[in-house]
Amino acid sequence: MGDELPRTADVLVIGAGIVGCSVAFHLAASGAGAVLVVDREDAVGRGSTGACAGGFRQQFTSEVNIHLSRASIPMILRFTEEHGIPVDVSQDGYLFLVRDDAAWAGFRSAVELQRSLGVEVEVLEPEAAGALLPGIDTRGLVGATFGPKDGIADPAALTQGYATLARRAGVTFALDTSVTAIEVDAAGAVTGVRTSRGPVAASAVVLAAGAWSGALAATAGVEVPVEPVPRVVVTTGAFPRVPARRTLVIDAASSFYFHREGNGVLMGMGGRDVTTFDTTVDERFVHDALVPRAVTVFPPLAEAGIRSRWAGLYEMTPDRNPIVGPGPVDGLWIAAGFSGHGFQHGPIVGKVIAELVTGAAPSVDVSPLSLSRFGTGDLAREGHVV
Ligand SMILES: Cc1cc2nc3c(=O)[nH]c(=O)nc-3n(C[C@H](O)[C@H](O)[C@H](O)COP(=O)(O)OP(=O)(O)OC[C@H]3O[C@@H](n4cnc5c(N)ncnc54)[C@H](O)[C@@H]3O)c2cc1C
Repeated sequence: MGDELPRTADVLVIGAGIVGCSVAFHLAASGAGAVLVVDREDAVGRGSTGACAGGFRQQFTSEVNIHLSRASIPMILRFTEEHGIPVDVSQDGYLFLVRDDAAWAGFRSAVELQRSLGVEVEVLEPEAAGALLPGIDTRGLVGATFGPKDGIADPAALTQGYATLARRAGVTFALDTSVTAIEVDAAGAVTGVRTSRGPVAASAVVLAAGAWSGALAATAGVEVPVEPVPRVVVTTGAFPRVPARRTLVIDAASSFYFHREGNGVLMGMGGRDVTTFDTTVDERFVHDALVPRAVTVFPPLAEAGIRSRWAGLYEMTPDRNPIVGPGPVDGLWIAAGFSGHGFQHGPIVGKVIAELVTGAAPSVDVSPLSLSRFGTGDLAREGHVV
């Protein structure tokens, strides 16, 4: 806790995950005045960001997600060079394995969209996928898509990196401090927040509280449809035929994925989407679903032992796209509900929110991500959610 909590801020950011830290840095860099980041944890990046697998890719089905990736990935790749803070990055690609004809048609049309937007993506025969990552079971594969410019970066390093840059630019971080309500006056404008350490006045509040954003928005009378859905990650020890490259491989049918991590692999899989904040690892799911699928997709994993496991929260919206932009209340800005893609989109979304708050033209058109889309019933669901 340490320092006294400032009683006023020009912009107050709720949440110090990758999104809040990027927002804070970009606000400070664009001269937004006194910026205060509030997080209830004792360190930055302890929410979903701390559980994240670190993947980034341009292989999405929604145009806006592809635009976000094309703007955000260069920010991740160039972070060390631009800011002098080391972030571990590898660009060994993402490989989607597809096993049925209907899904394959969807992947082919996604590839067309991706290519039309300038994405480098290859369509591979099963044998070529097997040659790319020896050990994959190619039986029953219809085809694969490979994005050679996709990759993996260290989420903790990038988040700490943005927090460090933000602090250097004058941002204050109030950790161990819970926001209990966003306050709105009778005219319908944000006036600040209430916290576990007292009130803070601010005419602009950025809601970047990840899976917890819905409850906070409700205190301002705003409905933000973000639901917590746990996802498990498992790492293994060393095993014979561990992949030589760090390509992130995804079995599209099951959403099982893995990539080399150290001398083993890191792997995970979507399951039944249960809405809960409980992040206890479901051991039955690990042993009865994830491990058997892992061995089917990549048989060398039969000789791997589990080294560690944890679970974190996806922050799901109804259409699996984030909510980015102004709220319906004056002075409220929302950057939440990334549905499992917030690590890779955090850098650019932080920049875009700073641009919107300071009245500059946004680097990416985020109008398709407005909160108001949920009132229209006209939702285009992101299809490539792992
Ligand atoms: C297992 C797993 C794997 C993933 N893999 C990937 C991946 O490969 N690539 C990718 O792009 N994304 C991935 N994601 C998704 C990614 O982690 C999230 O989308 C991203 O971290 C969201 O960042 P955020 O800053 O919005 O939220 P968070 O990191 O959750 O930050 C929100 C912060 O708000 C704080 N907070 C909440 N309520 C309050 C309150 N009342 N008062 C004060 N503070 C509060 C929390 O403490 C937290 O620090 C993965 C997620 C999981 C769980």
